[in-house]
Amino acid sequence: MAEKNKGRLTKVLDYLKYDDPFSKGVSFCPGCGLELLLRFIPRVLGNDIIITGTPSCSAPVLLGQNKQSWHTLSYFGTLMTGAAANATGLVRYYKKAGIDNTVVCFNGDGTANDIGFGNLSGAAERNEPFIYICYDNEGYMNTGIQKSGTTPYGATTTTTPYGTVHKGKNLRRMNLGVKMAMNKIPYTATATLSDLEDLAKKLLKAKKAKERGFCFLHVFAPCPTGWGANPADTIEICRQAVKTNYFPLWEAENGKIRMTKTVKKPKPVSSYTKLMKKFNHMTDADLQILQDDVEYETCLLGGLSVLEAECQLPVSAQD
Ligand code: SF4
Repeated sequence: MAEKNKGRLTKVLDYLKYDDPFSKGVSFCPGCGLELLLRFIPRVLGNDIIITGTPSCSAPVLLGQNKQSWHTLSYFGTLMTGAAANATGLVRYYKKAGIDNTVVCFNGDGTANDIGFGNLSGAAERNEPFIYICYDNEGYMNTGIQKSGTTPYGATTTTTPYGTVHKGKNLRRMNLGVKMAMNKIPYTATATLSDLEDLAKKLLKAKKAKERGFCFLHVFAPCPTGWGANPADTIEICRQAVKTNYFPLWEAENGKIRMTKTVKKPKPVSSYTKLMKKFNHMTDADLQILQDDVEYETCLLGGLSVLEAECQLPVSAQD
C-alpha cells in the first residue's frame, strides 16, 4: 500500500472507537455502499445510538429476520411517510424519561427526498434535536430500481428505461443537501465512502451539533446492482463523484456553507459516468446536459458559501 494511503487509513482507524455491531454475513449485495456506511456509523458514534428507519434495502438487516437479529443496536422501524415524525417522538420520549442518547433517523433518498420529505421538512423547521442521515443511491432499489427525485438526468431505472420512446430520466436531479442547508439548521453536510475521515468528522460534528437541534447528513452511497456497476468499483465511483464535482463535499453550520474538499481542476463528468451501465446509452449531447447540471450546482454552492447568513436557532424544538 502506498505511504500516502497508509497514512489516510491510520487516520480513519483513529475514529473507529467502537466495535462493529453487525454480524459478518448480512443480506446486502456485494459492494453495497449502504452496507459500508451502516457499519461505519456506529463504529464512530457508538453502539448506544438509537436507529430508526423505513422499508428499504437496509430494513431487512436492521429489522432482522424471524426471531434473529443481525446487530446489537436498538432499532425502531416505521413507515416511509413518517420517518422524521417517528424520530421526533423517540427524541421527545427519551428527553421526558431523562435518558441522554443520540437518535439517528437513517433513510434512503426515496424516503428523504420524496415520500417522507414533508415530515423531514417539518422536523427541520421545528429544529428537532436528532441526526437525519440520508444514504443516497439515487433510486428505490429495494422495490425494483425505480427512479427517485435524486436520480440524475439520463440515468436508466425500471421506470425511466432506455428504448424507442425514453432515453433514461429526462428530468434533472434534486439537490437534497442544499435544500436542507437552506433551512439554516445547526448542521448539514454531504459525505461519501471514498473520504472516510471527512465522513467520521462530520458524524462527530453532527453528534455535537444535535444539542442545538436538527442535523442532516446527505451521504452518496453507490448501489452496484441498480447502477450496473462492478461491486469492486464502489469506492472508485465515490472518488470520481467527488473529483468531477458530481457530488461535492461540503458542510453548513447554521446555513453557512464551507467546502470540506476543494477540487481545483474537476474532471469531466464522463470520468464518473463511464463506471456504470446506467449512463451507457448517453450521447455526448446528453452528457453535456448532465455536465451543465453539475456546473450549475457547483456555481450555486460557490454562491451560497460566500453568504454570511448565519442564523441562531432556539436550543430546543418548539412543541
Ligand atoms: S440493491 Fe443496491 S442498495 Fe440494495 S442491497 Fe443491493 S447494492 Fe445495496
